[in-house]
Amino acid sequence: MTDSITTRVSPAEPERGDLARFRDKKILVAEDNKINSQLIQLQLQSFGLDSDMVNDGLEVLSAVEKKHYDLVLMDWQMPRMSGLEATRKIREQGGHQDIVIIAVTANAMSGDVDACLEAGMNDYISKPVKRDELSIKLAKWLA
Ligand code: MN
Repeated sequence: MTDSITTRVSPAEPERGDLARFRDKKILVAEDNKINSQLIQLQLQSFGLDSDMVNDGLEVLSAVEKKHYDLVLMDWQMPRMSGLEATRKIREQGGHQDIVIIAVTANAMSGDVDACLEAGMNDYISKPVKRDELSIKLAKWLA
């Protein structure tokens, strides 16, 4: 009986406590779709992580000037300024090179991934964001 219990727990799936140790990290969610941004924020909360939210690339630029962020979850397509352009501007400016930027994109085809990385993003995650995938990326990049 012990075997059947232990096999139910997948070691590959981080538990809440694993990511809660990063609770002091500052996370910014940049997403113009309210449903998507709330979904991501709820997922982050379920890991014990707080986050701030902005709606477009211009708001990202202003947010990173006001506060030090460790990680940005950056939607690609946003009004006024896209995630790609916001990333380029952040990387052009001095002083923000250490911010981890993870693209959130609906079409994670290889050309799009290349564009994200060329713009200066560190990684990407596909939309809709899955909890497991998010937890793996956070564990990798917040460490
Ligand atoms: Mn969008």
